[in-house]
This record gives sequence, C-alpha cells and structure tokens, in this order.
Amino acid sequence: MDRLYAPWRMAYIEQPQKDSRSALPQSRTGCVFCDAVASSDDLGSLIVHRGKAAFVLLNLFPYNSGHLLVVPYLHTAQLSDLDDDASLELWTLTKRAQKALESVMHPEGYNLGMNLGTVSGAGIADHLHLHIVPRWNGDTNFMPVLADIKVLPDALENTCRKLRAVWE
Ligand SMILES: [Zn+2]
Repeated sequence: MDRLYAPWRMAYIEQPQKDSRSALPQSRTGCVFCDAVASSDDLGSLIVHRGKAAFVLLNLFPYNSGHLLVVPYLHTAQLSDLDDDASLELWTLTKRAQKALESVMHPEGYNLGMNLGTVSGAGIADHLHLHIVPRWNGDTNFMPVLADIKVLPDALENTCRKLRAVWE
C-alpha cells in the first residue's frame, strides 16, 4: 500500500536550504512570507496572486508540481488572530487557487492542510499558511525521488506565470 497521507506534515518541503535561496531576495525579517510580500518582484518571489488580506504563492520546495500556499499578510502563528475578513479570504483564495490549478495542470485530486505549530510539522511555524498540493494518480511513486531534487527556479516561475494568466 503506497497511499500517502498528510504530505504537508513533512517539514523539509518548506525548509529553506542554505544553498538554494539565492534566487530570492536576502531575508530581512527572517520570515520568507513577509519577505515575499515586501518584495517588488512578484514573479521572483513566486507570488501568483495578491489579495486584500492574504496572498497565494508557489512553494519553493514543492511536494508536487503546482504546490501552492495561501498565506495571510498578518505575521502570526495563531489562527485566532485572523479577523473574519481574513479568514474568509483565506478560504476564497484557496477555492480560486484550486480553480487555477484545475485549468493549468488538471490534477486528479488535492491535499489541503495547515500545520499549526512546529510539533505538527510546520516548517515555518511563525507565519501560518495553508497548503494546496495537487495530486495525480500514481504520483506517490515518484514523490520520494522528488524530495531529493532541487527544483529549478525557472520551472517554478514558468508555473507561476501560467497560474497568474488563468487566475482572473
Ligand atoms: Zn511572516
């Protein structure tokens, strides 16, 4: 049985590795999400969409192609810190992100999830975020291999462009 559950629990997905962050601006705040928001280079930061209270970006260390993160602008680890508008937008953006993935990549399924706290497997525990991992039948077979491959920023930027094109 090669069923995979809760792939977002694997912290290495989003753990920045020292030698592969060079494509992104130097960290000022120590938070990759806050840095991405502050950056003027949305494509370089892999931002697909900026909303009012939250934004959507591609995971620099994806578990699967098209692995998106929906992130509130508010730097907080606590779900209860989000007001109702931000909470709603998090979900609205998740729905829109799924729709964008649908038209660009035609996934056969999705894993959606949040890790709250380091103990849950969150790689970036200080700034909460929701994972959207597209799934295809049989993708568990190559996933363990993918974990050791450094994803080329060019390929991610390409995916980012395509998702932005279909977003509206
Ligand atoms: Zn942050």
